[in-house]
Amino acid sequence: MDRRTFLQLSGMTAAVAALAGCKSANEKLIPYLIPPDEGITPGIANYYASTCRSCPAGCGILVRVSEGRAKKIEGNPLHPVSRGKLCARGQAALQELYHPDRVPQPLKRSGARGSGQFAKITWEEALTLLVGQLKDLQQSRATDHLAFMTPQLTGTMADLTTRFMRSYGSPNHVSYELLGPDWLRTANRKSFGQASLPYYDMSETRYLLSFGADFVESHLSPVQYGYAFGRMRQGRDTVRGHFTYIGGRMSLTAASADRWMPAKPGSEGVLALGMARLILSESLHDQVSLAANGLRREILLDRLKAYDLARVAEETGLAESAIAEVAREFATTRPSLAMAGEAVAFQSNGQESVRAIQLLNVLVGNLNRVGGVYPDNGSPEGTTTSLNDLFSLIRKMSAGSIQLAMIQGDPMHTVPQATKFQEALSKVPFIVSFSTLMDDTALHADLVLPDHAGLESWGDVMPLAGTRENVIGLMQPVVNPVFDTRQSAEVLMAAAHELGGMMKAAFPYETYLDMLKAGMKKRVTPAGAKDFETAWTELLQKGGLFTSGRAEAKGFRWQAGAGLPAPAKPDFAGDEKEFPLHLSVYPSTAFYDGRGAPFPWLQQLPDPMTNVVWDSWIEINPKTASELGVNFGDLVEVTSPQGSLHVPAVIYPGIRPDMVAMPLGQGHKDMGRYAKERGVNPLGLLAVDTKGKEIQPAWNATLVRVKKISEKGDLVTMGNPKGSFRSELIEI
Ligand code: SF4
Repeated sequence: MDRRTFLQLSGMTAAVAALAGCKSANEKLIPYLIPPDEGITPGIANYYASTCRSCPAGCGILVRVSEGRAKKIEGNPLHPVSRGKLCARGQAALQELYHPDRVPQPLKRSGARGSGQFAKITWEEALTLLVGQLKDLQQSRATDHLAFMTPQLTGTMADLTTRFMRSYGSPNHVSYELLGPDWLRTANRKSFGQASLPYYDMSETRYLLSFGADFVESHLSPVQYGYAFGRMRQGRDTVRGHFTYIGGRMSLTAASADRWMPAKPGSEGVLALGMARLILSESLHDQVSLAANGLRREILLDRLKAYDLARVAEETGLAESAIAEVAREFATTRPSLAMAGEAVAFQSNGQESVRAIQLLNVLVGNLNRVGGVYPDNGSPEGTTTSLNDLFSLIRKMSAGSIQLAMIQGDPMHTVPQATKFQEALSKVPFIVSFSTLMDDTALHADLVLPDHAGLESWGDVMPLAGTRENVIGLMQPVVNPVFDTRQSAEVLMAAAHELGGMMKAAFPYETYLDMLKAGMKKRVTPAGAKDFETAWTELLQKGGLFTSGRAEAKGFRWQAGAGLPAPAKPDFAGDEKEFPLHLSVYPSTAFYDGRGAPFPWLQQLPDPMTNVVWDSWIEINPKTASELGVNFGDLVEVTSPQGSLHVPAVIYPGIRPDMVAMPLGQGHKDMGRYAKERGVNPLGLLAVDTKGKEIQPAWNATLVRVKKISEKGDLVTMGNPKGSFRSELIEI
């Protein structure tokens, strides 16, 4: 669709909004089964701009609606993050809206916890129950016995939860994301003194070095980076950027690289420091950048003297010549870019390894320049919740000092069991879930207050690190609610109004939409210069507020006294003799951390590297598989110090022989008919590194052993992947 057509179509949205008397753009939209009124012409589509919330990247979307039904989602061409593109997970958001197993109205537990027995209740009864629980805690002066768990929120919803918990008098708000980029914020704070996420100017770079950052599938803002990567490789007439990927498993991102360097898990930081030493010793560094960052070559060389090529080659398992070649190419091709990703960060030494990779950018002058790395302006100091906060909540729940837990998201599925979160939550007397589907957490809840689907909701989303612009993506309902659900924000505000006093005073709005608009009003009409309702309609037409505020950004600069990164020898849970293989868990292209599993389009989407559909699997190198007597599709038992799982094997040449890998996403107890009891949840195998002051998200630091169980793994694949691997490129 070209821009002009888009604007014409968006104009139709505005017309509908205007007809609705500036109340709600969807009030004139009527579900198909109800006879259409004069506002709907069968066969004519309207397009509504909104924001995808299927992952934290916050891409802009356009939803095609005809006869009151949402029919198709595409990227919003005006949105600075997605620029008209969208990933499969974003496309599948339609299936959240029309999922046949959505929780259709509030439910109250009627059987034993976890039994799945619930009774349908009305919203009035549900609110009375919730408010009753909140009042009980107030009356017994135990308001700090309330906990609220949410994903990492931005915008008005973040404001609402903060106000709610503060006015109520509870400090127990934990925002948890299994794959959240807290590790990157923490490393940036330590190196650069600011917790901004990085924005990599990939489209303009000429040499990209990714240390385990799978930006095509899941890292930070995959649609934006997929687009930028395309431009880096093919979008410029005379330049085709080079790409080297470092990491033990060939991901989809790694498969797009010119060179793959399968370094040993946990050795990436040492590799970066070895490259840094070589760059400095051969004077390939950028002297101006060193001086601007308060660093001196001689001092750096002295501190890095332990990282000679022989040691680095030994620790990484890579050839000395390859390491030296890549270091020289990286330093002599400008602009270049080094990225650190989850595969590196989720090791026991992750934070220092990430800092070592950042140092490479400093040495060759990649900070704050075209084709290099800038601080992300969009969400400069976003939410971070260290695992320490999660563990503190777990301790409180175990000790019986949490009486009421309200939960958005599915932590029963996404918190590794080694944390003992699941046991601790079961000790909480009253659990409220806001889930749209009966997920693992809702299954254990006492009260389920089903939220609207994303396409039925109002909201604002600050995208995660996908742009240097200041972007607030707006969400608007594109259809009337399909079921008797309510947006969780409305439920919380209604509860606050019911509680009265300070709680009511904290929310001087009638609806969540009023609160959202009040926030936007401050941003778009600072001096009341423009009629806000006109501005609001324009924002809804466009999909949000997109302003370039680049000049305000404080660039990255190595902080004085930050100290040089010093990654420790990696720690792995499990004795190497008993558990000889490194387990890597990675976000599935289709399901991310598991939130995409209920949608059949995504279950049916073949994994791009293995062709598996509708299942879980473990990837094993052919050499290892033959030693273990395992063939493609066999059922194997994977055992870690934490537990064991049965899963079919995929023989995969794109992985180191001392590693195995499993995708995240399956293994739900319920979550609707398409996800229920399908596959396994590899998080059950993980140990948790609780050594040291700061608990590290060392999700990739567990060792396992693999044993064949039977030849019947019942693996379902699209076609037969044997023979389709380019083994001549892989050679490990
Ligand atoms: S990258 Fe995330 S936000 Fe963007 S379309 Fe995909 S799921 Fe939605």
